[in-house]
Amino acid sequence: MHPSWRIFAGIYGDCQNGGFSAGVESSKPEFGLKVDSVFGSVNMEPTFACILWTSFMNASFAPAPMTFGEVRHDWTRAEITALFALPFSDLMFQAQSVHRTYFNPNEVQVSTLCSIKTGACPEDCAYCPQSARYDTGLEREKLMAVEKVIEEAKAAKASGATRFCMGAAWRSPKNKDMPYVTTMVQGVKALGLETCMTLGMLDENQAQALADAGLDYYNHNLDTSPEYYGEIITTRTYQDRLETLANVRKAGMKVCCGGIVGMGEEENDRAGLLQQLANMSEHPESVPINMLVKVGGTPLENEADLDPFDFVRTIAVARILMPKSHVRLSAGREQMNEQTQAMAFLAGANSIFYGEKLLTTPNPEANKDMQLFSKLGIKPEAYEVHEDESEQEASIVHQLQEAAMDSLFYNAAK
Ligand code: SF4
Repeated sequence: MHPSWRIFAGIYGDCQNGGFSAGVESSKPEFGLKVDSVFGSVNMEPTFACILWTSFMNASFAPAPMTFGEVRHDWTRAEITALFALPFSDLMFQAQSVHRTYFNPNEVQVSTLCSIKTGACPEDCAYCPQSARYDTGLEREKLMAVEKVIEEAKAAKASGATRFCMGAAWRSPKNKDMPYVTTMVQGVKALGLETCMTLGMLDENQAQALADAGLDYYNHNLDTSPEYYGEIITTRTYQDRLETLANVRKAGMKVCCGGIVGMGEEENDRAGLLQQLANMSEHPESVPINMLVKVGGTPLENEADLDPFDFVRTIAVARILMPKSHVRLSAGREQMNEQTQAMAFLAGANSIFYGEKLLTTPNPEANKDMQLFSKLGIKPEAYEVHEDESEQEASIVHQLQEAAMDSLFYNAAK
């Protein structure tokens, strides 16, 4: 901008409402923009004024990244660290700008999570109450009957969920489990819900079987940076996780993959986690960012709280690095006040888990979520079912009606 141009006054209105006025020295504020310069006064029509003003703001006050809003897969740790280090307002401005490029900023995708098999997991994830290694008082539950899962999915749909996630506390499913979980997928999909599962590690055949059953998403988190990973889990490697994610992609499913913050990691580890996710050849379609829920009996029960601003920063950086992904405000919402959640939405989070339970830890009650949505003017994102999918679903419903549901139950805890 030419240094002799003088813009001093406030802005009235906004670009979305048809334009703004920037009053200029000795000019009456008006619709559009009037600028005094050494070349004389210029009147601009509102749309152009909006563009100019946005460019001015970017250029003058908010140091924009060199690749603003571009989908990239080559982020360096230094670039990501620099984003974390931005003044908070600049980071939020950038994240919100990227968010608005690809999403309706007032829509949030709503998922419900159902624990289809709880506890007795042989893994040693230090945050997890479902590990058999920690005495957390969690009641173990065997694999849920298919019929019961379908009932839960119907209830989730009735409360506004568009995606139903089913989680089992397994290191990996056994082959004898596969017919049960694939039938669950078919049944939930038949209700017109998107389906997601998290069952631990998958080999190629298992991933293909789930994809063939119609599973839309598979969740498998990286949890943290490669450097910090060994502090949290020792019973499976980072590479194991990457291989499962590769099997999921190869089978044609969408990937839900994120991590947990507040586990005692450094900011550099949060940057490292996001770098791993952002540099995948295809970004995960869903990126859950969890805040540690400290559960008594787990090794992380006394971990220091993470500053909510650091949590929001992580969401904002995730939004900038993975512009087209749904960034999910996930576990830990129960501990957040409404203001922190609102900041997370402003930072680009556009997906939440909704319902009474988030696997085994409390989740804000559904009506609280709806109240917050109402205060913020947020609407749940719709899930579009296409015609051919409807036909496929009708056929699956028919098959399910013929299936003897009772015969699909067995005790997986044995
Ligand atoms: S996070 Fe998953 S794999 Fe790890 S202990 Fe919990 S249930 Fe098992």
